Amino acid sequence: MISIKHLSKTFKNPDGSVITVLKDVNCDIDKGEVISIIGPSGTGKSTLLRAINMLEPPTSGEIWVDGENIMAKGYPLHLLRRKMGMVFQNFNLFEHKTVIENIIYAPMELLGLSEDKAREEAMELLKKVGMAQKADVYPSSLSGGQKQRVAIARSLAMHPEVILFDEPTSALDPTMVGEVLSVIRALAKEGLTMLIVTHEMRFARDVSTRIFFMNEGIIYEDGTPDQIFCNQVHSATKAFVNRIQKLVFEIDTEDFDFLQMHTEINRFCIKYNLADKADKAYGIAREMLLVHLADIRPITFRITYTELTGVTALDFMVEGMNESPLPKTEAIQDIRSEVKDIIEEPTTRGFRIKILI
Ligand code: ADP
Ligand code: MG
Repeated sequence: MISIKHLSKTFKNPDGSVITVLKDVNCDIDKGEVISIIGPSGTGKSTLLRAINMLEPPTSGEIWVDGENIMAKGYPLHLLRRKMGMVFQNFNLFEHKTVIENIIYAPMELLGLSEDKAREEAMELLKKVGMAQKADVYPSSLSGGQKQRVAIARSLAMHPEVILFDEPTSALDPTMVGEVLSVIRALAKEGLTMLIVTHEMRFARDVSTRIFFMNEGIIYEDGTPDQIFCNQVHSATKAFVNRIQKLVFEIDTEDFDFLQMHTEINRFCIKYNLADKADKAYGIAREMLLVHLADIRPITFRITYTELTGVTALDFMVEGMNESPLPKTEAIQDIRSEVKDIIEEPTTRGFRIKILI
């Protein structure tokens, strides 16, 4: 359905220097495929999506859609835009139109639907994304997750052959990510062709037929979720998907600032969608550091989050010790019953107590 050959895109900086954002992108996308595009930021993921629907005309190469070269002179771009919906990070709804007006506008203008027909279809789509009850409100009264669901309905209203999503959940409050991902998941099940730039690794693994790992302006590795997440060909792919996010504290004095630690743990948990674990993480860390491990100083405390597996761990590390400093008291049993696991293990430099929450 879409075939991309040797695509490149360069931008001119204001000082005249040139940056090459897409170097040599090649891929074929079949009808019904759900492709997640992952990779570090700044590697050209958004630029690739914008090139595919010609919002950002490529510098060289070819893009074929349904057997036609869309970069050829005279190709009717309005037809292309009809075939391809796009959903942006920031929703891009018309603020001065109600929800339903946002949805019926393009089908009436561009597909020539009567208002009655457009409204009827719009209501069906709003039902599908769980927003029918908000048809007549203005976007300003909606949450981010609701706005994004409306934006998805608006894109579906044009009966596109493919929808391009550019980080559809990145601008959302963590509590709203799930509702948007489940709408996209449902569309995937229906067989809609989709390209999704996302940082949600577990979602990408579950929903995609194929994953593109982009790095340095090329599709560095392209494969099934199983290949990209478990049996990578390239070490850069492996390193990217197994990224671990960390927050580290060194506790060496009595006047360690626990309030500051609390703030930083909250911020970390919100950033990685772990808001529901923030209180537990802080509560256990505080109890460990002030009660069970109060005599052990200096001690390094670390909270880690492995994006792919979703595992969150609290590590307490002491150097130069080869036995667990954790007392075998009843109190530890209380913690044990609250957490998924406690692992006590020697490391090359000392000892680590790892608490999985
Ligand atoms: P990603 O979506 O993977 O984070 P982008 O495609 O947004 O990456 O951007 C890739 C690179 O291209 C970045 O270094 C960005 O600064 C640059 N870039 C994107 N759009 C433009 C533009 N219009 N002018 C100049 N540079 C741009
Ligand atoms: Mg981007």
